[in-house]
This record gives sequence, C-alpha cells and structure tokens, in this order.
Amino acid sequence: MALQSAIVVGAGVAGLTAALSLAETGMRVTVLEQSVQMSEVGAGLQISANGARVLDRLGVLPLFSSQWLQPECVTLASGATLADLASVPLGRAGAARWGGPYGVLHRATLQSALLRKVDEHPLISLKLGTRIDKPSKEALEAEAGTRADLFVGADGVWSKMRSLVEGAGQARFSGFVAWRFVIPEKDAPAFIPRNRVTAFTGADAHVVCYPLKEVGAINLVAISAGEDPGPAWSISPSEEQRRDFVKRALSGWNGHLCELLLSAPQPTWWPLFGVGDGHWTDSRDLVLIGDAAHAMLPFAAQGAVMAIEDAYDLAGMVSSMPIGAALVHYEAIRRARVAKVRARGDFNRFAYHARGPVRLARDAVFALSPASRLAAKLDWIYGYKAGEQPA
Ligand SMILES: Cc1cc2nc3c(=O)[nH]c(=O)nc-3n(C[C@H](O)[C@H](O)[C@H](O)COP(=O)(O)OP(=O)(O)OC[C@H]3O[C@@H](n4cnc5c(N)ncnc54)[C@H](O)[C@@H]3O)c2cc1C
Repeated sequence: MALQSAIVVGAGVAGLTAALSLAETGMRVTVLEQSVQMSEVGAGLQISANGARVLDRLGVLPLFSSQWLQPECVTLASGATLADLASVPLGRAGAARWGGPYGVLHRATLQSALLRKVDEHPLISLKLGTRIDKPSKEALEAEAGTRADLFVGADGVWSKMRSLVEGAGQARFSGFVAWRFVIPEKDAPAFIPRNRVTAFTGADAHVVCYPLKEVGAINLVAISAGEDPGPAWSISPSEEQRRDFVKRALSGWNGHLCELLLSAPQPTWWPLFGVGDGHWTDSRDLVLIGDAAHAMLPFAAQGAVMAIEDAYDLAGMVSSMPIGAALVHYEAIRRARVAKVRARGDFNRFAYHARGPVRLARDAVFALSPASRLAAKLDWIYGYKAGEQPA
C-alpha cells in the first residue's frame, strides 16, 4: 500500500528537500526543527548540476536562478604565485555537458527558496522550536501530532536520530579546520576573480573563493590541519589566533592573499567533523539522510548536493516499492554513490595539499590535461540523475 505520511527531523537542505520530494509523491510530511526561527548560518555553497536538476524538478531553482551566479569555470591556482594550474569549464558548456547548471550562492538564498516552497505546499507542515533529544518513534509521532509510515533523520552531523539505527556511524573530528572570510566585493583586490570558483592550493592548505552575487560579497574559506575545540559551528577568533592561523597554514603563500585574510572583517572558524561508516536505516521504516548519515569533508563541495540526491532518490524508492525493500535499496545505492564521492574528496585533498615532488608531478599532469579531459572526469558526479536509479 502507498505510504501516507512521514516525519522528518531537521529542516536543513536535507530535511527540506526530503519534505518536498516526499510530498511530491503524495505523502503528508511533518518537519520537526529545533530552531525557533530559521536564521542563517554559514556563507557560500556551490551547487553542481546533479543537485540543481533536483531543485529544478521541485520548483525551487526558479526561485533563485536570477540571483545566483553561474561561474564560467572552476580553477585550481597556486597559493604562492596565484598562477592558474588547471580549469574546468562550467557555465553553458557545463550545463550542456551535465544537463543542469552549476551555481554559487549564499546558503540563506537556498534555504529561503526551500522554505518558501515548503510553506506553500499543502501536504507539508513545519514545526519550529521542536528539539528532539531522546528520539523514539512514539515520541516523534507525539511531537508531530500524527502517526507516520516513514521516519527521516535529517538532523545533521550531530544527529540524535542516529541512536535509532543499530550500527550507525559516529561523528569524528577530521583533523581539519575551516576558516571563513566574507568581504564586500567592492573591497576585494583585482586578483580575486569575479566570474569563477578558484581553489588556491599550497602545502597542507587550500583556500576556496567565489563571489556571492546576490549579497555583493566574496566568500573565502581556508582549510588546513587544526585542533578540535569540540562540537561547534562558528567560533569568532581573536586577532592573535587569526595571525597564528595565517602564519602557520599559509606559510610561503602570496603576501597579498595573506594580507587579505588578515584584514577581512569578522572571520569565523570551526572544526570539520565527518561521520564514519555505519548503517543508515533500520530496514523497516526509519532512514538517515544528508550529514546525519554521511557528513564528509568539503573537498569535493558535494555534502549538500549529496543530501539533495539522498532526498530525491529516497522519495523515488519509497513510492515505487515496499518500504522495507525500498530502505535496503536506498542504503545500497546511496552508500556506493557517497563512498565514491567521498573518495573523490580524498583525492582532491591529496592533490590540493600536495607538497614537494608530488606537487611538481601534479602541476605537470595538469599542464598536459586539456580542460575537456578534466571535465570528463567529473561526468559521473555531476551527471548523476537522482530519482532515476534502477530498482
Ligand atoms: C566549509 C564548508 C563548505 C561547504 N561547501 C559545500 C558546497 O560548496 N557544496 C555542497 O554541496 N556542500 C558543501 N558543504 C557541506 C554542506 O554544508 C552540508 O553537507 C549540508 O549543509 C548538510 O545539510 P543537512 O541538512 O544534512 O544538515 P544541516 O545543515 O546540519 O541541517 C540539520 C538541521 O537539523 C536541525 N537539528 C539538528 N539537531 C536537531 C534535533 N535534535 N532536533 C530537531 N532539529 C535538529 C538543525 O537545526 C538543522 O536545521 C560544505 C561544508 C563546509 C563545512
């Protein structure tokens, strides 16, 4: 019998996309979210074609497509000399190649488009200020005020819903920290490109930067090894901590880029956690998606996009086969997909943070690789068609 109703815990990218995807199949969905108000945390997001296509099908993309920026390319550049090392064309060429656009935007832009669609949907109700600390299916139904055929844990890296899945993975500090700097575009020096995503690379660190067109700012995120201060999303550093970070992580880097990071207003930093291998479903009626299931490091810029794919694949599967089989199938298909994307992230980390002879070899390979070959290596990521996985 077709599923009638679902309870989703968490209203991040994963939870909101799941609510919309499940409601599109005719299910009633209640979303339980701890925040009293959906305020914005974070800054920029890259959304590649595999995520953008889903957002388009759900009617979310048209709500922000005039606001976001579709960069011409993503470029790897040297953090020491600022010289380009390799580029993958995005823009029209990328959209034609992967069947959807690649864009960059402020997280708030995506979140408010998702929320608008959720608010408009007659089958979805969102209950804010509802924190689930000790989840059980009965407690979730009591909070939602309705029974459910399906329970979805979309409550992020520190998921409580994981406690309902035997053998679920756990959040682990990765050994890396991220520092974020947002500067007004008008104040950004000329060496910061306005029409592309740039990853400046150096030994043991990299800095990703791209414009946030709709807020007139440049988003810069520096990632390097660091210490674990415990669960945190956003820490404001002292000036001394900032100087220490730039000196340690970006030693030997271009002085103007270092200066920019030393003078950017109000930086924040936080430790990067991943979720290790483990089960994502109870094989009956409960499933984890997004960071709750498989938080990964941002080396392939795919965490939110994987959450979007999860949500859409899940809805397709539970609406076309018995729920137990659908959840087993979901875990098998999504686990293989996420593992491959995670491995690509590990490869990027190795390539971005290379030093010495490895770096020289990397640069030689890039110099000999035409852009079309680099793009072809990404076809399996960006060309993935969520919702169309074989039964
Ligand atoms: C530096 C950095 C850069 C990144 N860049 C990219 C990128 O360019 N592209 C990309 O695709 N991904 C990127 N990511 C990854 C991406 O941010 C995450 O994978 C994505 O936001 C995960 O979404 P989620 O909905 O699963 O989790 P979250 O965004 O963490 O949402 C979880 C929600 O659940 C709620 N919640 C939590 N606990 C409870 C509870 N107990 N009860 C009720 N509600 C609860 C929270 O309030 C929140 O609203 C990046 C990550 C980092 C760190």
